[in-house]
Amino acid sequence: MIISKKKAMAGILAALEGKKTVYLFGCNSCAQQCQTGGEAELKEMTATLESHGLRVLGSSLVPETCYRQHVLKEYRKVEAIGKADAVLVLACGAGARTVADAADESQPVLPANDSIFLATVERQGRFFEGCSLCGECVLIETGGICPHTECPKGLLNGPCGGVAGGKCEVNVENDCAWVRIYRRLKKQGRLHLMMKIAPPKDHSIGVRPRNVILRNPAGAAGAGRKKTGD
Ligand code: SF4
Ligand code: SF4
Repeated sequence: MIISKKKAMAGILAALEGKKTVYLFGCNSCAQQCQTGGEAELKEMTATLESHGLRVLGSSLVPETCYRQHVLKEYRKVEAIGKADAVLVLACGAGARTVADAADESQPVLPANDSIFLATVERQGRFFEGCSLCGECVLIETGGICPHTECPKGLLNGPCGGVAGGKCEVNVENDCAWVRIYRRLKKQGRLHLMMKIAPPKDHSIGVRPRNVILRNPAGAAGAGRKKTGD
């Protein structure tokens, strides 16, 4: 899940300066769970913009704003979207990007949120960053704990000299990621992995933008059927 937080309203209002009408997009997935782009936040944003003299032409709460087909469907269905002076997106950056590509290039599309990290949902309203999408997963050798993300220094070959009493010297409240890796590997009888030297991270794998094109995506005609040749 992508975690987002609301931008300061002053910045949003400054970006909307000179505009008279706005259309809002929310996201009924991650942003809804982060309380940054669900129904309540769309209502709240509508009231705030209107109290500042802007006319909100409407809002769309799509299942996932990062899904281009959902956004394009709204643009086709709701004439008011194309007529708005600007569109404000209460979703993550991927959602704002998707709306920006669906809009006519002359229509400004503005993000209402900042995207922060990819999260594990520990429970409702409690999120934890355990993966930073490096593109070359090492969890296979680290007991399922990510040193790339959970060690603030991103150390891949054991702890730094700052670990004290099992705690991290950077985030003193947290256990050192490498102490946790050690404990877990020990319980798994895989401590020999601690002796393995990880090669330098290949950052070329993470060169952006990245894309993936599946040859047989789920839901497409024929998906899941065995290919007989091509
Ligand atoms: S090593 Fe860490 S950052 Fe990289 S893919 Fe695995 S969990 Fe994510
Ligand atoms: S104490 Fe552990 S988690 Fe903290 S920076 Fe050093 S190695 Fe990383």
